[in-house]
Amino acid sequence: MTILTPAQERLRDQAREFTATELLPIANEFDPLQRDIPWSLVERMAELGYFGIMIDQEFGGLGLGMTEYCLVTEELARGWMSAASIIARANGTGSGVADPAWRAEILRRQAAGGWISAGAFSEPDAGSDIASVSCRAERRGDSYVLNGRKRWCGWAEAADAILVLARTAPGRQEGLDFFLVEKQRGRFPDGITGSPIPKIGYHGITSWDLEIQDLEVPATHMLAGPNGKTGKAFEQFAELINWGRLHTAARAVGAARGALEDATAYARMRTQFGKPIASFQGIKFRLADMATHVAAARALYQDAAARFDAGLDCRQDCSTAKLFASEVAEQVTSSAMQVLGGNGYTTQFAVQRHWRDARLTQIFEGTSEIQRTIIAQNLLRDS
Ligand SMILES: Cc1cc2nc3c(=O)[nH]c(=O)nc-3n(C[C@H](O)[C@H](O)[C@H](O)COP(=O)(O)OP(=O)(O)OC[C@H]3O[C@@H](n4cnc5c(N)ncnc54)[C@H](O)[C@@H]3O)c2cc1C
Repeated sequence: MTILTPAQERLRDQAREFTATELLPIANEFDPLQRDIPWSLVERMAELGYFGIMIDQEFGGLGLGMTEYCLVTEELARGWMSAASIIARANGTGSGVADPAWRAEILRRQAAGGWISAGAFSEPDAGSDIASVSCRAERRGDSYVLNGRKRWCGWAEAADAILVLARTAPGRQEGLDFFLVEKQRGRFPDGITGSPIPKIGYHGITSWDLEIQDLEVPATHMLAGPNGKTGKAFEQFAELINWGRLHTAARAVGAARGALEDATAYARMRTQFGKPIASFQGIKFRLADMATHVAAARALYQDAAARFDAGLDCRQDCSTAKLFASEVAEQVTSSAMQVLGGNGYTTQFAVQRHWRDARLTQIFEGTSEIQRTIIAQNLLRDS
């Protein structure tokens, strides 16, 4: 495992304390009610700087790197994966806007928790195959007019902005662009209607189906790619998704650790056959395997994050870390439910929340099958 600096340890410990004392009680109350993360919690996370971990200090951020971002993410996800997810909606997202003054304003607002975005990339017919996006953006004078459908857009109604992936020219990987749609919190702008998607987990962040109809977006709100090129959003997406994969690996480890810690405490407390169940070898070995897998998954994401911070190519490492951590998270949270027996199957214990949330990490930010495809492609190309 990576040896942390004293400053990193302090940041992690502060997030751990915050999760135990403030976040967990809210998660335990809100998840069963399937309610969104309350704004009071968002404000507390903003005070602690979690929306600006990777934003430069000149804009009010903490000016730290991917390693610290993932450390905090793991701690928050140990309590509630949704709370760990919401910080990814700031921390520099959308910073690709060309105008320096506007970019600075967005970063300042993000760092203060006042600019939380949503990402509208997936569509009913475009999931793993994101190059098949069909939402259209047509130039009309100084604007683009967007039409199409989006699926799974999390936090869309509550967000300050929605980053929409749309097609500006026919093709697959070419001809895609990002559009930044600024909006008010708590309502959709004219041109977008939304309906919530019923889910088995990941409560706290409502996911939306969006219908986009004649949505007018100023042409200046199109985020140009490298060197000001348009039609290159697929390449931008491929970079962005590396962040997402590392963040997801850290989220998966956090959810797994939550389940492991709960199961360990339960095994000490629960007595059967006149002994704590922790005294049975079957339970001990299960806990030992869970702890080993969590440590291995953490080591992988920390290694990948260190490469990211060092500016090294880490695409393969991000996929490896995401694949392993999400598979581990599903196994460990399921194992934890077994340790809790019948109680693990109730909503009176948080283990089932960790299990429902962990299951998602195998699906979003690129499914496990897509990670395996990427890893194998790199492996075969390199050999
Ligand atoms: C709760 C939740 C929140 C989400 N939040 C967002 C969000 O905020 N914004 C957003 O844009 N999207 C979001 N997504 C969408 C998410 O990124 C997609 O669900 C994911 O990319 C998979 O796409 P799909 O669901 O269409 O599955 P499909 O792509 O239809 O895949 C179905 C199955 O086929 C497999 N498969 C597909 N292609 C291949 C292949 N080439 N080889 C082998 N197997 C393959 C997949 O692995 C999977 O098992 C969210 C999804 C969920 C469930």
